[in-house]
Amino acid sequence: MSHTDPSTKSSPAHRYLDDNTRRTKVVATIGPASDSLETLAAMQEAGMDVARLPLAHGSIDEAVARLRRVRQAAPEVGVLVDLPGPKIRTTPFPEGGVLLVAGADVVLSPQGLAARSDASTIGVSVPELVETLHEGDRVALGDGGVALLVESREGYSVRCRVVAGGKVQGRPGVTAPASRLALKTPTPEDLHRLEVLLEEGIESVAVSFVRTAADLHEVKAMAGRGVLVCAKMETPEALDDMDNILQVADTVMVARGDLGVRVALEEVPHIQKRLIRSCIAWGRPVITATQMLESMVSSPVPTRAEVTDVANAVFDGTSAVMLSAESAVGVDPVNAVATMARIARRADLDFDSSHWGRNLPAQNFAAETAFGARITAAVGAAAWRASVEERAAVIVACTNTGATARAIARYRPAAPIVAATPYEYTARQLTTSWGVDTVLVPEAKSTDEAVNHGVEAVRAAGYAKAGDVVVVLAGSLHDPEPVTDTLRLVRVY
Ligand code: PEP
Repeated sequence: MSHTDPSTKSSPAHRYLDDNTRRTKVVATIGPASDSLETLAAMQEAGMDVARLPLAHGSIDEAVARLRRVRQAAPEVGVLVDLPGPKIRTTPFPEGGVLLVAGADVVLSPQGLAARSDASTIGVSVPELVETLHEGDRVALGDGGVALLVESREGYSVRCRVVAGGKVQGRPGVTAPASRLALKTPTPEDLHRLEVLLEEGIESVAVSFVRTAADLHEVKAMAGRGVLVCAKMETPEALDDMDNILQVADTVMVARGDLGVRVALEEVPHIQKRLIRSCIAWGRPVITATQMLESMVSSPVPTRAEVTDVANAVFDGTSAVMLSAESAVGVDPVNAVATMARIARRADLDFDSSHWGRNLPAQNFAAETAFGARITAAVGAAAWRASVEERAAVIVACTNTGATARAIARYRPAAPIVAATPYEYTARQLTTSWGVDTVLVPEAKSTDEAVNHGVEAVRAAGYAKAGDVVVVLAGSLHDPEPVTDTLRLVRVY
């Protein structure tokens, strides 16, 4: 892709952004194509902010080994461990895959009757699903491109017609109508894996196929307060319970892949916008995921439509954009990360950084209920306004848990946000947050000390120079819930 000449030199964002800065974060899924030490280090260098480790494939020992490699090669990136949930899959198709031809007959059988799948018989990992299927049900394979229509029952199996053909390989997901089989998330296997990975000190975990806020409670209880829990929004039930889920979740993923199998495809862009809007109102970092640069699985350049999709997610206000197969099994994961980062950086220049600050305060008070959250929202709104009116060089969030940085990030300000934290763990958690850079500072015993550390650190790191005004936010150190209750405007000397 050739270098573009930004046309927005007078936009507020442009005042603060240069060729090296980026506000929208890049999440890259790690898989066989990207888990060598060299590739991981190169991906961090190319712009990977967060490494997603899906646990759907491979053993827990392999996942631990992969996590350790990420820590070794890319110590600054955040890690998002992704629990697969009750994903129903086919039994394995032969190496190289098979073509299912539209109009052909195929039998769906429980895995006990079909340990391997081929073009005439497809095994299903959860036998109860096959039991519940009725004539007329539509069953999707993978991301929904291949679809079967159930025509008749044959004992424990069902005979289907291929209504949308295509190639299937590996162990694609199997999706039946929502009313057929509702499996619980997280699964016992998810919780076992989480327990092992918590020993390794992970900072974020994603829960798949969330249907209600209650599905997050078990993971939250096991993970403890310090670990961020990400709700993957990919079922129609979760969309119905969105406000309750956003109240409980720490971060959110717009999981467009599975979502697009469960709702009409033309609804996906609208759901994406609605989810991003709500996440910003709630102050939850939100990742837009799946097929963003899909053609880069096999090609060195993305399509125009893909580039535009990434840029539009940035304009929607997403905190992060995600690579899936592109970085997990694609031909050049480092190039995919560099391309994603370049598109996001360019789109950041045209992001409307006055919109959220102008419009959020009223929404906050309607949405937030807890007193601490209302104080944080009020102080955050004042900080945003002060940063605009004083043309602040930087907004410093003095933070132990990261909450103060997330609280100001929701205003999507034009000025850079720098989280000043004593903890590398918090710094890694903030890699998902829109616009947040991090500097490490000594632990503080008082708010005054935290403010001084923060201002000194941004001056030393070059975010502010003598004469600049810096907006500083700090939280209460002794409150049981993190509350951002301090705003100061400091002139740098
Ligand atoms: C998705 O469905 O969009 C998604 C991100 O989930 P997974 O990749 O785990 O299927």
